[in-house]
Amino acid sequence: MTDPAAPNPAAQNAAQRLAEVRARIEAACADADRDPAEITLIAVAKGMAAERVAEILALGVADIGENKAQEAATKAAVLASLPPRPAPRWHFIGQLQRNKARTVADFAAMVHSVDRPALVAALDRAAVRRGQPLDVLLQLDLDPDPDPNRGGVDPQDLAALADAVLDAEHLALRGVMTVAPPSQDARRAFDRLVGYSQVLQAILPSATVVSAGMSADLEAAISAGATHVRVGTALFGARKLASEYRT
Ligand SMILES: *Cc1c(COP(=O)(O)O)cnc(C)c1O
Repeated sequence: MTDPAAPNPAAQNAAQRLAEVRARIEAACADADRDPAEITLIAVAKGMAAERVAEILALGVADIGENKAQEAATKAAVLASLPPRPAPRWHFIGQLQRNKARTVADFAAMVHSVDRPALVAALDRAAVRRGQPLDVLLQLDLDPDPDPNRGGVDPQDLAALADAVLDAEHLALRGVMTVAPPSQDARRAFDRLVGYSQVLQAILPSATVVSAGMSADLEAAISAGATHVRVGTALFGARKLASEYRT
C-alpha cells in the first residue's frame, strides 16, 4: 500500500524541473530587461504519457506541445476523461500532413508549423467545424542548408504564405516560429526570426507571436525576443528515441 500522505517522487521531480525551467526563463528575462509575463512556456510532451501531462497541468502549466497528430489527439482525449482541471491549450508543433489537418484542428488551439499553401487550405477546411478560428504561426526554415524533414517555409516565400493565411476564413495568423538550424548559431537564427516577425507585423500588427527556443537554447530565444518557448527535455527528462515509441 502506498501512503497517500507520502510525497510522490515523480511529481516532486516534475515540480523540481519546472522550478528550474522557470528560474532559467526569469534569469533570461532579467538579462534582456523583459517581463517574464511576456513569455508563454509550452511543455512539449511528445513521447510522454498522458499522466505526465496531467502532472505538469496540476503544477500550473496550461500550454502543452505535441508534434505527432495521432499521438496528440489520443492524449487530448485521455486527458479530457481524467478528473476536471483547467483544460490545456494544445500547441501542434510538428510537421503536418494535409490528411491529418482535421485531427489537429479538432483539438489544437494553435498550429506552429504552417509552412505551405496546401496545408493552409487543408487547415482552413478542417477548422470550419471548430466554431472559432484556429490560431496559426508560419514556420520559417532558416537553415542555409535546408533539411526537408524539419519543415518550414523559405523566408522569400513568407509574404505569399502570409497572404494565403489572411485569405483563409477559419484561420487566424498570429506570428512566426522556427527551430534553430543545427549548423548555425541559435541566437543568429532567432535574431533573423524576429526580423521576419517585424516584416509580418507590418502586414498584420496583431501577429506578434514569436515561437522559438527549446531546452538547449531558450535563453538565446528570450534574449532575441521570443514570446513562446517550447521546452520538452528540461521539463520531462530524456525521451526515448522517436523510433522507440508508437505514435
Ligand atoms: C521536441 C521539440 C521541442 C522540444 O525540444 P527539447 O529539446 O526536448 O526541449 C521544441 N520544438 C519542436 C518543434 C520539437 O519538435
